[in-house]
Amino acid sequence: MKQILTLLIGFFVLLSCKNDNISISETSISSKTVSKKEQNFGIVIHGGAGTILKKNMTDSLENAYKEKLKEAITTGHTILKNGGTSIEAITATINIMEDSPLFNSGKGSVFTHEETNELDASIMDGATLNAGAVAGVTHIKNPINLALEVMNNSPHVLLAGAGAEEFARQQGFEMMDPSYFYTEKRFQSLQKVKEKEKQNKSVSFEDPFIKDSKFGTVGCVALDQHGNLAAGTSTGGMTNKRWNRIGDSPIIGAGTYANNATCAVSSTGWGEYFIRAMVAHDISAMMEYKGITLQEAAKEVIQNKVPALGGDGGIVAIDKNGNIAMEFNTAGMYRAHMNAEGELTIKIYK
Ligand code: ASP
Repeated sequence: MKQILTLLIGFFVLLSCKNDNISISETSISSKTVSKKEQNFGIVIHGGAGTILKKNMTDSLENAYKEKLKEAITTGHTILKNGGTSIEAITATINIMEDSPLFNSGKGSVFTHEETNELDASIMDGATLNAGAVAGVTHIKNPINLALEVMNNSPHVLLAGAGAEEFARQQGFEMMDPSYFYTEKRFQSLQKVKEKEKQNKSVSFEDPFIKDSKFGTVGCVALDQHGNLAAGTSTGGMTNKRWNRIGDSPIIGAGTYANNATCAVSSTGWGEYFIRAMVAHDISAMMEYKGITLQEAAKEVIQNKVPALGGDGGIVAIDKNGNIAMEFNTAGMYRAHMNAEGELTIKIYK
């Protein structure tokens, strides 16, 4: 009798342990799945790369940049956290930087040789590989919104100048008076460059002073909770640009690229070189064909390929797993990153 009782107790103890094990492993599997899904999003922004040195910066200006970067990235992060799409997040984030005179995009755009402001922007959806871009627009407050409109509501990818603005009018965009884009700081930069040009008697973007008077292109890349990547870039281009010059920012594959299979990239730097190196797409292609990581690909392109041609600048990027890269070969790049846990990194210098 005693033996039977011991056997019965043993059997029940075993049974309950087994059940515990099942329920523990089930809980851990499901909590892992949920938390991974919830946590797997992130956002990275840049506000331009160049000779940005601490010694040339006042504390108040540095704080102003940091505050604006924080405002922009937290706006996008909140959208992602609430389940919004990466396209929604990058557009809202870029709008904040476009509306600030601190950056060379929208309100703070640099001046052309003719003392006008010609703005470029592009956006790409990594889920569909759809893209939209505008170049040389002069009346559009937020060119990234028009790029999005081109992507969503036109049969084309890239619209330029008067045609892009006609499309904007038809889509109900507000037309800004060009005086909206006037900022004293940018206008004086142009005058200084022109003065220098007069002395040298030639236009040379090789001149570090001229090359560096363009800081502040803005860009944003994001991974949303649905696993979709997107990238966007917006700029006023380069100070003293002529002849309707168009840089890399509205060129899909150079200034902007996104592909759910690999990564999303936004570039900033000397556009002529970024076009020739096809920077954003090259990073994605290296991941796809060579099987290397985002960080390895970004490093190869920004530290080796672009400088080998003679160009400089940087990128921000995020991959399908939320890994990021903020790579540049200049003294500084305004940049920020926020992960799913809400951890925020803001940096300016090397
Ligand atoms: N890439 C921009 C252009 O060449 C300028 C910049 O990012 O600083 O138009």
